[in-house]
Amino acid sequence: MDKLSYRVMRTNEFPDQQSVFYRISCDCDDAEHDMMIEFEFDRGIMEIFLYKTFYWKHYYAWCHWYEKIWKRISASARILFGGYIEMQGDLLIVEEEHIDAFIEALQEGKGKLKKWKEGASNGQTLP
Ligand SMILES: [Zn+2]
Repeated sequence: MDKLSYRVMRTNEFPDQQSVFYRISCDCDDAEHDMMIEFEFDRGIMEIFLYKTFYWKHYYAWCHWYEKIWKRISASARILFGGYIEMQGDLLIVEEEHIDAFIEALQEGKGKLKKWKEGASNGQTLP
């Protein structure tokens, strides 16, 4: 089995833009927990972007209705007067095969960046 096939997939590759995208799925199977990784070689710089959805860090389901309202008010006040809010998001990787696939995606993306960088060093231009 291809190591990348276990909960990790290459979702897009744009050789002309020198970028490749991977999706790492969360072990809990909630797609909202998945993470996207983009490897891009842009203007001579090797870049990795991590894309993840974050949520306000509390769990509504565990609160009484008045606690939910208070948490919303306190979060609103923090944004209004503090200019920030704390967020969190999780990505659960538990199986060895899943870990290997994640590492494989990182290695594959890194390899593509190195190839594009070497191409740039040799004077190759984008198509
Ligand atoms: Zn999850």
